[in-house]
Amino acid sequence: MNIALVAHDGRKKELMEWVRYNWETLSQHNLYATGTTGKLVIQTLTEAHLDMIGLGNYPDDYPAKLHATYTAKVTCLHSGPLSGDAELGAMIGNNKLDVLIFFCDNLIQQGHQNDIYGLTRLASLYNIAFATNRTTADMILTSPLFNNPNYKRILPAAIENYINRDINF
Ligand code: PGA
Repeated sequence: MNIALVAHDGRKKELMEWVRYNWETLSQHNLYATGTTGKLVIQTLTEAHLDMIGLGNYPDDYPAKLHATYTAKVTCLHSGPLSGDAELGAMIGNNKLDVLIFFCDNLIQQGHQNDIYGLTRLASLYNIAFATNRTTADMILTSPLFNNPNYKRILPAAIENYINRDINF
């Protein structure tokens, strides 16, 4: 599945704790992230993997190799305020995203608030699995429907209706 991960600065720590806890599941999927979040995700996946192996049980060059592996797995887009949120919105519109985990800061307005509204609106419109907090993110990852090849996301009829709407001119 194609999974996008985004966190505002005030919630990056919370998202990385969640990524660390779920690193094995997440690393089986195609991951996308806004720029700064993505760098942290790569670092967190690498550290979680090394923790699992245990200090002293791998050669000196293994952390760098693992970091390169996760760098290849996580596609880092532009930073959110610099068009990364818009890029994710375009991915949704192009049917390239299945899950969006977006830990937004709910206590302050962002300079790119319009982009955030745009991304969350598209996630809702296109009926993708969409979490803005840890409980919902946990439930998405543990749902029997997650990664179930028989589950087909329904595209709301409103989209087709909008495309085919009458225009009088
Ligand atoms: P960042 O962007 O991952 O580059 O910090 C997140 C956002 O603000 O959307």
